[in-house]
Amino acid sequence: MNETEGVRPTPRSRRASRSAREAVPDDEPIDLRSDTVTVPTPEMRKAMAGAEVADDVLDRDPTLRALEERVAGLLGAADALWTPTGTMANIIALMSHLSRGQSFLAPQGAHVLDFELGTAAWLAGGMPRPLPHDGGPGKVTASAVRRAAVDDGFYASLRPALLCLENTHNSAGGTITAPEEHASVAAAARAARLAVHLDGARLWNAAVALGVPPGALTVGADTVSVCLSKGLGAPVGSVVAGSAEFVEQARRLRKMLGGGVRQGGVLGAAGLVALDQADRLAEDHALATTLATGLRERGWRVREPQTNIVLLDVADLRGTIAAFADAGVRAGAIAGKLRLMTHRDVAEKHVTAALNRIGEVGPSSTGSPGGPPAQFPRVG
Ligand SMILES: *Cc1c(COP(=O)(O)O)cnc(C)c1O
Repeated sequence: MNETEGVRPTPRSRRASRSAREAVPDDEPIDLRSDTVTVPTPEMRKAMAGAEVADDVLDRDPTLRALEERVAGLLGAADALWTPTGTMANIIALMSHLSRGQSFLAPQGAHVLDFELGTAAWLAGGMPRPLPHDGGPGKVTASAVRRAAVDDGFYASLRPALLCLENTHNSAGGTITAPEEHASVAAAARAARLAVHLDGARLWNAAVALGVPPGALTVGADTVSVCLSKGLGAPVGSVVAGSAEFVEQARRLRKMLGGGVRQGGVLGAAGLVALDQADRLAEDHALATTLATGLRERGWRVREPQTNIVLLDVADLRGTIAAFADAGVRAGAIAGKLRLMTHRDVAEKHVTAALNRIGEVGPSSTGSPGGPPAQFPRVG
């Protein structure tokens, strides 16, 4: 994959090359930083060009509306609202659930805690309370939620108001929360009078990996956000779902945040195509396992992936990312680990080539710890 927009292969040739047997050219970088680096498929571009559109701020855009209704149905929600980004979907939900003087619980390393500039606190007004992963990587238990949700009633104390879950959990390595686990944690929060928001940026990955419909993973959540631009591969777009009253308020909040778009159907059309192809995520998961196995065989300390995220424990994160980049493999960093992600524009031949290239780096050559604070490649 070329880095420069101008010299990218056309989407058609890129897609055709996916299944081809030929090797990846040596000078073509393999971009495993994130599943957000995919470019729209020819089918998406065609749907975008032909989309039926209208002004979504004045009336409603019919294609965005179709997308919203479809996602609401998939998530088992009454209604849904398209947003340009997952960050906006989350802040809209948090603004609707929280006010000043309240706190919210979220598993440590959650996107809403660490990667949204603290907007949960300064924009939604809720004080974050991170919970340890006592239920396994990326997961909290119902008993921990019950303990943390106690409102002591003292006038100077924060009032716990919300539990914010994340499935799959990005910084824990794309870890899955199963339906029973999710339902029991959500029920504990509700019993303690907390609202429940589910950050499901990669809920599709969890659903495909488990072989369950996405709606099986949203039980007990008041609001759910999902991304179309991660593994599903749409160029732009997220959706936040909930009750009809929530979505009515969410539309006002989206406008307030500057997220009311006009003929957004040109973007929504790609989202609809992306949803048609959700089952394809199983390929990403299988390739992540291949990648992890190959790395382990080459001596790297690898977390076994549950979905499309492979985390490596390395002594020198900055140095290792630089060494990978020199070898032609682009990696990211999250929670002190090196992160590699499989995605739609990565085929088996890319994983094979990436393993060969990383094999030349070798785990021992990057073992020196320390170095100055790093400017890590961004992750999403
Ligand atoms: C990517 C991501 C988001 C939101 O991402 P945007 O880049 O704003 O679309 C939210 N939550 C999680 C867990 C994510 O990985």
